[in-house]
Amino acid sequence: METEALSVKCTADMPYNYHAGFYYSRFLKELRDNKRIVGVKCPRCGKVYVPPRVVCRDCFITMEEFVPVSDRGTLLAFTITNFPYIDTTTGGPKQIPYTAAYIRLDGSDSNIVHCLDETDEGKIRAGMRVQAVFSDDRTGDYFHDIDHFTIIRDDSV
Ligand SMILES: [Zn+2]
Repeated sequence: METEALSVKCTADMPYNYHAGFYYSRFLKELRDNKRIVGVKCPRCGKVYVPPRVVCRDCFITMEEFVPVSDRGTLLAFTITNFPYIDTTTGGPKQIPYTAAYIRLDGSDSNIVHCLDETDEGKIRAGMRVQAVFSDDRTGDYFHDIDHFTIIRDDSV
């Protein structure tokens, strides 16, 4: 009887979709159809969550009031990636360097993660003002419909 089992190397390509939920779907539709970022507001404490979620994390009650927030915000933190990796949204190699940005949009009490178009760490500081840049061909995909964020040099405009 054969006792040695070999392993066979293979690659699985498994595209899939998942149900985004009604709150996140509304968020994605506002991005796609109106280039507008919406959150949901807690009726008790008044906090606004972006992206929208059903239950307030502090009050534990259902939130149903969708409110627009600004496409401008404050950069809270960032990291610049200089090593190659696979982009999970495309399956291909991610273009590097890549700056991941942690952002608080004006009118929101939560934070989002997206990318920043500046990759020179000498030109980036926490506290800088940033603005969303929307894609022209929006499809209902957060990391595509907001193409990136850019640093606002003059926030008075
Ligand atoms: Zn609340």
